[in-house]
Amino acid sequence: MNSPGYRLSRLITRSIRRYLVGAEQRWVFERPSQDWSPPHIERTSLYLHVPFCRHFCPYCPYTKVHYRESLVEPFTVAAIAEVDWWADAVGPAEITSVYIGGGTPTLVLDSVARVLMRVRERFRLTGDICTETNPADVDVETVQRLHDMGVELVSLGVESFQPQNLAVIGRDYKPFVAERALTLLAESNFASVNADIMFALPHQTAADVTADLSRAAQLGADQLTTYPLFTFPYTTVGKYLRLKAVRMPNLRIRQAHYRAISGWCAEHGFERVSVWGFKHGTVPRYSSVTRDGYIGVGPGAGSHLSDGFVLNTFDLNSWIHTTCNGRTAIALRMPFAGEMSGWWWLYWRFYDTRIPLDDLDVALGNDAPKARQWLKIVEQAGFAVKNGRHLELTESGAFWLHLAQNYFALNYVNTLWTQARREPWPQAVAI
Ligand code: SF4
Repeated sequence: MNSPGYRLSRLITRSIRRYLVGAEQRWVFERPSQDWSPPHIERTSLYLHVPFCRHFCPYCPYTKVHYRESLVEPFTVAAIAEVDWWADAVGPAEITSVYIGGGTPTLVLDSVARVLMRVRERFRLTGDICTETNPADVDVETVQRLHDMGVELVSLGVESFQPQNLAVIGRDYKPFVAERALTLLAESNFASVNADIMFALPHQTAADVTADLSRAAQLGADQLTTYPLFTFPYTTVGKYLRLKAVRMPNLRIRQAHYRAISGWCAEHGFERVSVWGFKHGTVPRYSSVTRDGYIGVGPGAGSHLSDGFVLNTFDLNSWIHTTCNGRTAIALRMPFAGEMSGWWWLYWRFYDTRIPLDDLDVALGNDAPKARQWLKIVEQAGFAVKNGRHLELTESGAFWLHLAQNYFALNYVNTLWTQARREPWPQAVAI
């Protein structure tokens, strides 16, 4: 965390964010004040975080606990109570999409179904329901339950079809398990089936990555989300210390993998829809992170509200106890100042690799001229080209953005999550 590279990247990102968003934006998450309540919401998305995993993949940074049957009912009751809290606090908003992640949602589908039923009772659910699935859980019964719950888009955490790569990331099943799961999902009439594929794994070659993409497409995936092994600085997270041996390949190899992915997808009819995502044909886009606003349910779930970000306590017991007593489990809040909300919107449009120029004035208000200047610099540097009323990232623009996102994760997400893991109700976390 205190390496020269880390300190330099922190200095650069802090200078850029201060210039863009302005000095009045405080980059500090704090305990919300007693009199704070969330603003009224007309339309938003909903994220449900299911924290259970059968075993922990050694690289995984997400909030999770080992699955125990005795925890499922308290989790379900607490999640339903939290849905009620949000509905009372923000009103009967239209929910334009639901994303169920984790953890491993497919471990506890009866629980997820009950929470979804409450979402339908308390809100107006009009959008798609997407869920993450784990290869080890997908069978005919799982598929039927997903259909019964109204799930339309599914994502399978394949990561790799190659035994040596599965071993590196601590997956304890054979490749045929993921192949069988993907085949079943692809044959089961979902609106779209996404496969997650990892790259930049130790000792992995670019040919390994494209072989995985090819296999996923052959088995029926119509969307491919590729992501590198994130190097969260585990030395700050005690329980990951044993992972010190797991290191990401250097920049040259990462770039070679990234180019190979872009080339393979272009050649095989997969259009780029985000820095890491590609889709085939006209299927609805599968995405976990690009929504403009969302409310979060579950331990460690975040929410993006019109007046700032909030984050639930990461501690499962604290979250259960608080929500079941009718109180909010929000532990930390970072209010927005100036045009922060608009800059956040622009950040995700960069992630989409396509920036709608006509929307800049509405999204960024007073800062729209500054944003235009930056987009001009991005264009002149060869990282983006104009296409009609959009600015589109070039392949090299997308690569450098993917790298910047890695640093973003290191600098911000890791700082926040490390502290939030240490204590259920931190006083403040500066990012
Ligand atoms: S199954 Fe998913 S959430 Fe659970 S430890 Fe592995 S990567 Fe993390």
